[in-house]
Amino acid sequence: MTAGRCAVLARWLPEKTDAALIFSEHNALYYTGFICDAAALLITREDAVFMTDSRYIEAAQQRIGAPVVCRLAQRLLSDAAAWLRTAGIRRVFIEAEQTTLARLNVLKGYLPDTEIVTDGALDRQIESQRIIKDERELATLRQAQALTDAAFTHVLGVLRPGVRERDIAVELDSYMRRHGAQDISFRTIAAAGPQTSLPHAQPGDYAVQAGDFVTMDFGALLDGYHADMTRTVAVGTPQAEQRRIYDIVLQAQLAAIAALHAGITGAQADEAARSVIRQAGYGEYFGHSTGHGVGVEIHEKPTLSSLSSTVLPAGCMVTVEPGIYLPGRFGVRIEDMGVVTEQGFADMTASPKQLICL
Ligand code: ZN
Ligand code: ZN
Repeated sequence: MTAGRCAVLARWLPEKTDAALIFSEHNALYYTGFICDAAALLITREDAVFMTDSRYIEAAQQRIGAPVVCRLAQRLLSDAAAWLRTAGIRRVFIEAEQTTLARLNVLKGYLPDTEIVTDGALDRQIESQRIIKDERELATLRQAQALTDAAFTHVLGVLRPGVRERDIAVELDSYMRRHGAQDISFRTIAAAGPQTSLPHAQPGDYAVQAGDFVTMDFGALLDGYHADMTRTVAVGTPQAEQRRIYDIVLQAQLAAIAALHAGITGAQADEAARSVIRQAGYGEYFGHSTGHGVGVEIHEKPTLSSLSSTVLPAGCMVTVEPGIYLPGRFGVRIEDMGVVTEQGFADMTASPKQLICL
């Protein structure tokens, strides 16, 4: 399946004597299906070579198939440079965003006669490939989200007055790990009561009290692909204002989901949610963007923000996660993820969105 991805990149190379040299683990994962934090992937018109050290070589050989060839590297940079010299490469494209200056300088030392291109062209090409998910990626993301939904159902049975934020986070994390997640997608957010006004609160010792909102933002990582969802629930009976704010956020989220389809821009999708919150009088309490792409990275292209002129292609994955945060009081966020289609948005998140009162 990944063979086609390498071929697309190889065809993009302008000259026969060009190569792409990829170090980022997410990009290498995309092209090989193997995740590893010490690898180099070299792609030319003729070859695709994955180099890693003795800690990973056996696992890489088991996972990676033709046309990518695995090679054991003693010293990654010098071995990659030696391979490029032997292959007669005259110009090599490297990732501008991911490459450190230290690494670039070392490479320049090893490749004095090779042009090293750092203008972002390779980053843009990889981004244009990664933004559209194929069926296999979508199946993995669906599976990761199904596991995340199951963790949400599970945690509802645990939420009650007296439970601490950190216990909620551990409960979600351990459920996902025990039921097949390779890891969690990102550090789980579990906030209760006044902490729910902090969009990215760290779970602490605060214990849930009757009448609190609890916001949980979490996801399972499966085969390198990230799930991401948020739900805000009430423990006990919420006040009328809490219900009202919840309903505004829900209407905003539904409006963005209804607006989504291939051909609109990230800014238009953002505005669909933001206008609902603005018209309700809470525009200043929704500071972050409406959503982001998700895949081999938890945050990737496209972005659903007021600044995004990106036209959403069919097959891109996005989250839809508006929120309202009233400082020192409470906040609400509701987040689904799904795939943008020609006609609309195929939501992968199955958990209910009506306010749950436990
Ligand atoms: Zn999230
Ligand atoms: Zn998100």
